[in-house]
Amino acid sequence: MDILSHGLWAGAGAAAANKRLKKPLRVGLATFFGVLPDLFAFSILPIWTFVNVLQKDVTFSQLPRDLPPLLAFEPLPLDTFWVYPFTSLLYALSHSLIVFFLIASIVYIVKRRIVWEMSGWLLHIVIDVGTHSYQFYPTPVFWPISFWHFNGIPWHTPWFMAVNYAALVFVYFAFIHTWRRRKLREGEVKPVLSVLRRDIRVKLAVRKIVGKTMRKRVEEV
Ligand SMILES: [Zn+2]
Repeated sequence: MDILSHGLWAGAGAAAANKRLKKPLRVGLATFFGVLPDLFAFSILPIWTFVNVLQKDVTFSQLPRDLPPLLAFEPLPLDTFWVYPFTSLLYALSHSLIVFFLIASIVYIVKRRIVWEMSGWLLHIVIDVGTHSYQFYPTPVFWPISFWHFNGIPWHTPWFMAVNYAALVFVYFAFIHTWRRRKLREGEVKPVLSVLRRDIRVKLAVRKIVGKTMRKRVEEV
């Protein structure tokens, strides 16, 4: 899935979990973990491309049109630039459940507690398993033990993008709605109608004052 959706879903998941948790999750941190696997895998490739094209070491025509699939799954063309198989390796590292549980265990030992915000990373892998096809970075969920991967729906399929973003808009509207209702109950925000009425009262008062001064001036003249 695209990185923005990953971040938004991880944030939404943490915010939804917070409704039931006594000790709330840090939504920002969960969102960060939600985008981390793609940041880790895809940060070097654009920098490499930018620097090499700028230095004229590489021209656009030399770059592969489609990114080669994962190093572990398909035979990669040997004449490709090193950065492509390297990106595939980084992708395998950050999208493997085995690597995830290994890192989560190390964090658990160091912190002596489960960092639940790391679930954003787990959610990222699970979503990517279903939203990548064989053609574009199939998710190596059990790498390096198994090369099994699932031929999912490519996330960039137009109807899938539309459904995904419609669902995100719906979820975030629901959050805003419940947040506003809670604040209304707590008296921290005023109902929209009362704010509008107050605005109208202010406008009328201003008009009255302006009208009075104008009349006064006309009388003076
Ligand atoms: Zn990903």
